[in-house]
Amino acid sequence: HLPTAELQALDAAHHMHPFTDSAELARKGARIITSAKGVWLTDSDGEVILDAMAGLWCVNIGYGRQELVDVAARQMLQLPFYNTFFQTSTVPAIMLAKRLAELAPGDLNHVFFNGSGSDSNDTNLRMVRHYWAAKGQPERSIVISRWNGYHGSTMGAASLGGMKGMHAQGGLPIPGIVHIDQPDWWSEGGDMTPEDFGLERARQLETKILELGADKVAAFIAEPVQGAGGVIVPPVTYWPEIQRICKQYGILLIADEVITGFGRTGNWFGCQTMGFTPDIMTCAKGITSGYIPLGASIVSDEIFNTLDAADEFAHGYTYAGHPVACAVALENLRLLDEDGIVERAGSEIAPYLKEKWESLTDHPLVGEAKIVGLMGSIALTPNKATRAKFASPTGTVGYYCRERCFANNLVMRHVGDRMIISPPLIITKAEIDILIDRARLSLDETLAYLNAEGLN
Ligand code: PLP
Repeated sequence: HLPTAELQALDAAHHMHPFTDSAELARKGARIITSAKGVWLTDSDGEVILDAMAGLWCVNIGYGRQELVDVAARQMLQLPFYNTFFQTSTVPAIMLAKRLAELAPGDLNHVFFNGSGSDSNDTNLRMVRHYWAAKGQPERSIVISRWNGYHGSTMGAASLGGMKGMHAQGGLPIPGIVHIDQPDWWSEGGDMTPEDFGLERARQLETKILELGADKVAAFIAEPVQGAGGVIVPPVTYWPEIQRICKQYGILLIADEVITGFGRTGNWFGCQTMGFTPDIMTCAKGITSGYIPLGASIVSDEIFNTLDAADEFAHGYTYAGHPVACAVALENLRLLDEDGIVERAGSEIAPYLKEKWESLTDHPLVGEAKIVGLMGSIALTPNKATRAKFASPTGTVGYYCRERCFANNLVMRHVGDRMIISPPLIITKAEIDILIDRARLSLDETLAYLNAEGLN
């Protein structure tokens, strides 16, 4: 390939990156990833980097699995595309839907395929409204979601999300979506115990339902563990109370499992780890381990039967049930299962990672360390006892720390002043040791910088 500097110049000139300050990118030059194997990335200068984010929370199976490549190539030759619109189907779509129905909890037995997490959530938004209309209650159309949640970037999904920076651009949210607070005890729990705080935040849902009128509310959507919002692991009291409230008022419960699905939290789905059963699950990312785009909405018998009896659902994407994507997903799920990857991640790797991750709280900059399965976060703070925030604008220290990680050949992400990880599920204990060593080094360098600048 071209030399790195030339690639960087072309990238800055022609390639518009998501969620990126283009002027800053042009100044610094992108780090160009050229290949990967297992948990290791290689860049255009030959540097080898530990990817503790599994790409973008998606490469659950790790990089470089030949089986997925072979399945994709075979399927492309045999049938690269056919649609599922006009009473036609394909073998990979059928077999993947069957497998997802087997894996999904409860009676979530029916799959609507989409192209990504964002458009899966748009499907869900339209589907729950269609469902209530089919039941003769079209006024039941409001969807409640959470501030700081992330559900994607389309108009519908970004409206469901609670990222205020996104809302500020482009007239969001669209009508019919309202938000409640997240259960972030570290930042907002004050003097309450995490358990009481979890209950208090869950009951905001009940308050909002009563304020709007239950007969106006279609659904509540949330991530079992808020991911892009900073890996906010809810107190144990939160989800059972949410489930109770949804049941009591007949509100559909949508679990956005785009990050938490397919082994990330130590079970196949995050709702299983958090102890609740939704009516709909949103899936993407880990469904194919990111090797090819695919999304899915998996719905209960009750929703399916209601829609089945109603007029056709006038909704669908060209690539819904794309045969190559479905074939890759099926093989990915087979390997995650038969190679024992999900099982081992939950029973062996997660406890080891938890112990090491939590040991970071002995570092002067680290307040709480939260982790569930293989997704974790640490809160950086100038004062652990008071859970204080830095004087600098939120995210400045986190950004600096992320840059140090990157310089030390470790990909960690920062969300505000939280550092987060979500490594491939196939990470080994020896690789976890390297991850923690590099994280510690980067934290030390961040602390030294804050001290030198008098910012701490
Ligand atoms: N939902 C959640 C919980 C996500 O984390 C994401 C992406 O990070 C999405 C939805 C959107 O998925 P996509 O980027 O595939 O559209």
